[in-house]
Amino acid sequence: MDAILVVNAGSSSLKFQVFGIQGANLYRQVRGQIGGIGTRPRLQAKGADGSALVDRSYAAEAVRDLPAAIAAAREWLVTLEGFELRAIGHRVVHGGPDFAQPVLIDAIVLDRLASYQDLAPLHQPNNLAPIRLAMEINPDVPQVACFDTAFHRGHPDHADCYALPRAFYDQGVRRYGFHGLSYEYVAEHLRKVASEEAFGKVIVAHLGSGASMCALRDGHSVESTMGFTALDGLPMGTRPGQLDPGVVLYLISEKGMSADAVSELLYHEAGLKGLSGISNDMRELLASDDPRASLAIEHFVHRCRLNAGMLAAALDGIDAFVFTAGVGENSAPIRAWIAEGLAWLGAELDPAANDAGAALISTAASRVKLLVVPTDEELMIARHTLALIRSSAS
Ligand code: ADP
Repeated sequence: MDAILVVNAGSSSLKFQVFGIQGANLYRQVRGQIGGIGTRPRLQAKGADGSALVDRSYAAEAVRDLPAAIAAAREWLVTLEGFELRAIGHRVVHGGPDFAQPVLIDAIVLDRLASYQDLAPLHQPNNLAPIRLAMEINPDVPQVACFDTAFHRGHPDHADCYALPRAFYDQGVRRYGFHGLSYEYVAEHLRKVASEEAFGKVIVAHLGSGASMCALRDGHSVESTMGFTALDGLPMGTRPGQLDPGVVLYLISEKGMSADAVSELLYHEAGLKGLSGISNDMRELLASDDPRASLAIEHFVHRCRLNAGMLAAALDGIDAFVFTAGVGENSAPIRAWIAEGLAWLGAELDPAANDAGAALISTAASRVKLLVVPTDEELMIARHTLALIRSSAS
């Protein structure tokens, strides 16, 4: 069977999926990852029916960094029988100011993507590592880069800029927005499940470990809560979301923190984890009766409501509000608390449908449709990859 490999490479985990191609359709065949890189490396993968295909632990020295993880994953992937690798699709966090679409990768494109490393120093080098390796090992297999930023590139200039001297914008200091592959998937899916609203005004709330919201008009992104980096907007598992930049200045000038220490704080020690002092995991906070857990949840919900109001203003009102990602797809209480804050926009939750985890969770009388859509960024990458290799072949 012809197949597409989808790769999502981070610093502590390498995730991969294999999709079989049948005509215009894609079927997920393998879903796997190597987690705990450098600490407790473990390769796990499941087949289409959810059965375990491999579960292998390694010594920390054996898989101490991403290149070693790529080698270990490759060693296992080549043993899979029945697949003919036609292309590799990669999740790449940053497409810079220019890439508004996925792109077939060649040496020139790769250099361009590497030039965006300073825009996303924690992610971009990891995303590019498997591309370089595959270029060396399998130069004949086409590779496609799919960006978290691309979906938002159509924002008007007045939404895309900060009120800084223009030179900074020209140097790339812009509101890029992220989670674009997730929003693109949801926008496409809405055409099937809410065909009228899909062409109207919609807010999508991607609430996972990372969290953001996107305002869609006619299926296109017009605003996002994330900006120059994935730190802005909503509070997240370990990131604070919107923060007065004066706090950063204070930490550096008055508290003597280095740029690295502030970065560690903002990316790994803040958010739900920092505020609660308990966990970055929403499930654990919901299960806790510690008042610090309640405070973190209340803060999260409060900020979600405020940001929804901001995006509703960007759209002049909304026709639908969509919940997606780990928290959005699975937590009925969080959905209910956020939905309460959307009542002024005309949203009315159907508590029974919400508790049952239905796809439509608003009442028949609700002026705003409330929906739950499980996101699928990997399928979106596979679709883009298939489309690009087919169009480049024709
Ligand atoms: P990512 O892909 O960014 O790592 P996910 O989209 O998987 O994140 O979301 C992870 C988050 O979803 C975690 O905070 C986790 O606690 C939360 N989550 C998953 N299931 C539930 C649930 N049933 N109730 C509340 N939160 C949940």
